[in-house]
Amino acid sequence: MSTFQAPKGTYDLLPPNSATYLAVREAISGPLKNSGYGYIETPGFENVELFARGVGESTDIVTKEMYAFETKGGDRLALRPEGTASVLRAALEANLHKGGNLPVKLWYSGSYYRYERPQKGRYRHFSQVGAEAIGTEDPALDAELIILADQAYRSLGLRNFRILLNSLGDKECRPVYRAALQDFLRGLDLDDDTRRRVDINPLRVLDDKRESVQRQLTGAPMLRDYLCEACKAYHEQVRELLTAAGVAFEDDEKLVRGLDYYTRTTFEFVHDGLGSQSAVGGGGRYDGLSEMIGGPALPSVGWALGVDRTVLALEAEGIALDIPAATAVYAVPLGEEARRVLFGTVTALRRAGVATDFAYGGKGLKNAMKSANRSGARLALVAGERDLAEGLVQLKDLESGEQTPVALDAVVDEVTRRLG
Ligand code: AMP
Repeated sequence: MSTFQAPKGTYDLLPPNSATYLAVREAISGPLKNSGYGYIETPGFENVELFARGVGESTDIVTKEMYAFETKGGDRLALRPEGTASVLRAALEANLHKGGNLPVKLWYSGSYYRYERPQKGRYRHFSQVGAEAIGTEDPALDAELIILADQAYRSLGLRNFRILLNSLGDKECRPVYRAALQDFLRGLDLDDDTRRRVDINPLRVLDDKRESVQRQLTGAPMLRDYLCEACKAYHEQVRELLTAAGVAFEDDEKLVRGLDYYTRTTFEFVHDGLGSQSAVGGGGRYDGLSEMIGGPALPSVGWALGVDRTVLALEAEGIALDIPAATAVYAVPLGEEARRVLFGTVTALRRAGVATDFAYGGKGLKNAMKSANRSGARLALVAGERDLAEGLVQLKDLESGEQTPVALDAVVDEVTRRLG
């Protein structure tokens, strides 16, 4: 061990487990790439104001969890705690919404940072794959995103997850509900922090996990009863499209999510094997966000799925992804001359697209064969001075143990033939 350890709340992805993370990212992005979403990458940090305005001044993410700092040049920046605000900022900056081709559909994959209290499934550095569809109000777009996330999780073999669905209303009906809820909450016995939350973001009080709060919420006005006709009709269409697609969901009137920018459709994917950090992904419609960050009105919808928690969900369901061995052929030279010649063969195999590795460092035969087995390779190429003098190498099948001499200049052909 060195003097240093990974910072608190972080962990390293190491082989062989790291292959699962890559596979999860691919499984999530696959359905998006297949549905018209283009890849976007934005910086790991942004002007802190973008998140303050975009994510919301009253959210835990902004008030407590942001890694904010001032640069030597005096800029106030923050490591990104989520993806949506950055993606929308980038799309607006590049005028993607002016191409006359709405919605702008984008997907991303990257690292996010929140100064949270670490526990299983909750880290200070975590990884998300996300999608945003910008500039169009259409219930089919909301449904599309939910269906694609469902498809992604299912393609990984996950089954024990549920989709929670709600509508948060829009700028017509939400304020009326908000006021009614505030009236109700102000009559309860709440601590000072929660009272402040009642003033700033009363919907989030519904989300409070504490039993002492939950107990008092019986009889609270429900948003469902305040939704305007347009929001009701919109939500009904989303529900119908999901049902028609065979995607099961649960209506959850208490689902408000931790970010301020959501309107209308909100949803969360929860996994039942994860304990308290059960949300594996979530998202929703954010029709007002563009204007909040100084852009034009651009109704949009998106989601972010957590890679770390998806991996935990796989573990919880006992699913081992079928990840092909990284190495197909392992080459073992015996002696200096063999090292030179066989290294050339390794290069030729790689150029022919065969995943090949080499016993570096002058290992003895026994040690090298151990490495060959550990690599997961199906074939080993072994060459000593005598073989080479005859222009041969030994091709060993590591499953059957069977060994056949092959002419050096026929190795690439023979190996590709055997690997099919
Ligand atoms: P959110 O932006 O909070 O809706 O998060 C979307 C998804 O990202 C969640 O459902 C989690 O899977 C993941 N996520 C959020 N925060 C963390 C964290 N601190 N550690 C690990 N995963 C997280």
